[in-house]
Amino acid sequence: MKKIEAFLKCVDCGKEYDLSQVRYTCDCGGTLDLTRDLSGVDGEELKNLFDSRWGQKWGATASGVWRYKELIFDIPDEQIVTRMEGNTRLYPAGKAGEYAGLKNFFLKHEGENPTGSFKDRGMTCGTTAAKYYGAKTVACASTGNTSASMASFAAVSGMKSVIFIPEGKIAYGKLAQALAFGGKTLQIKGNFDDAMSLVQDVCRELNIYLLNSINPFRIEGQKAIGFEVLQQFNWEVPDWFVIPGGNLGNNSALSKGLQELYQLGIINKIPRIAVIQAEGSAPLAKMWKNHTPFEPVKDPDTIATAIKIGNPVSWKKSLRGLEWCNGVVESVTEQEIMDAKAFVDMAGIGAEPASCCSVAGAKKLVDMGVIDKDAKVVGILTGNVLKDPDAVIGYHKDELASMGIKGNFANKPLVIDANVAAVKAALEA
Ligand SMILES: *Cc1c(COP(=O)(O)O)cnc(C)c1O
Ligand SMILES: [Zn+2]
Repeated sequence: MKKIEAFLKCVDCGKEYDLSQVRYTCDCGGTLDLTRDLSGVDGEELKNLFDSRWGQKWGATASGVWRYKELIFDIPDEQIVTRMEGNTRLYPAGKAGEYAGLKNFFLKHEGENPTGSFKDRGMTCGTTAAKYYGAKTVACASTGNTSASMASFAAVSGMKSVIFIPEGKIAYGKLAQALAFGGKTLQIKGNFDDAMSLVQDVCRELNIYLLNSINPFRIEGQKAIGFEVLQQFNWEVPDWFVIPGGNLGNNSALSKGLQELYQLGIINKIPRIAVIQAEGSAPLAKMWKNHTPFEPVKDPDTIATAIKIGNPVSWKKSLRGLEWCNGVVESVTEQEIMDAKAFVDMAGIGAEPASCCSVAGAKKLVDMGVIDKDAKVVGILTGNVLKDPDAVIGYHKDELASMGIKGNFANKPLVIDANVAAVKAALEA
């Protein structure tokens, strides 16, 4: 297989840069894509190479990201920083499928990655790039999962990590991971968007490698979610992907990867993508529905803290992808998110609140007649159920009234006397 050369290209003005120097944005201020010239590449040969690595037991290409390295970041195996991420399961949605009104609904559980979220797919690629550029320290602003992931990959590769998080607004499981993995954790007096702008200044001035999703290498790693789903379906293309949207990097990655497979002839049908935002932080959904210019949301709010982002960096990449695949953007309420989550959890699968936008959104789009109930649909579950135990307990104890959320499908814990009669009564209740 001849090496496919990659370079950076501006999303706004098209200017190109080679990979010889660290770069996150174009001279014009636009965001950058890692791009490659795919003309003359034999798609069939590439697909066979990917298939030949399936089930490999050891080595970098046993990873569910680096299995596709020719389309991600083609670098010698020994330079790769990996935790054998990816290789996550694809489940029939069970009760969550019935809830959404879909007969052919699958859930791709990215919460089964090493640190419990899809961020590991981007981070394996981002930290590999950091090493490639000789970085000693990496940094990110994070609503939680990015920092948990970065701290882990930095630790594995012997780099230092610095984390900027919005003060008091991060789920417990995620903060715990960042501290445990040794990330220098700075709580910023401000929201995620404030932390995001600060970290960019800090990286520029202190020569630290920036690993927010503005980093073009992270998006490349995240493309592997779509690649892996297709490979799990033997390259048969589903009708829809439904995916939560916060900073909007993940759906941009999904469409970018699919576009490349389509260009290579590895797939011959374009699936549609539905991006789902939480109503309280839905700048893209607003723009989409009202046909208005993009406008950040000032005080984003949602129980789904992973997507509580008012000024997403990747909105242009996201729109470009949605236009390509005839996608849609929708928003869901807090109650819809947590009720959908109850069914994802009840199905025995489980995921954190933001992830369950996929199921809440699928249900809404089926109800609206946008998604056909017979369609083959893949919902992306982005994070693990244990990331945010407070949200789970709050819902099941019906203690989220202050957030306007009812425990409609609560499974309340009962306090009973320590005797058989009391147990019998509880079981019959
Ligand atoms: C980061 C994250 C998202 C949002 O992904 P974006 O790329 O920011 O749109 C959704 N769910 C979980 C669990 C996340 O960690
Ligand atoms: Zn530019």
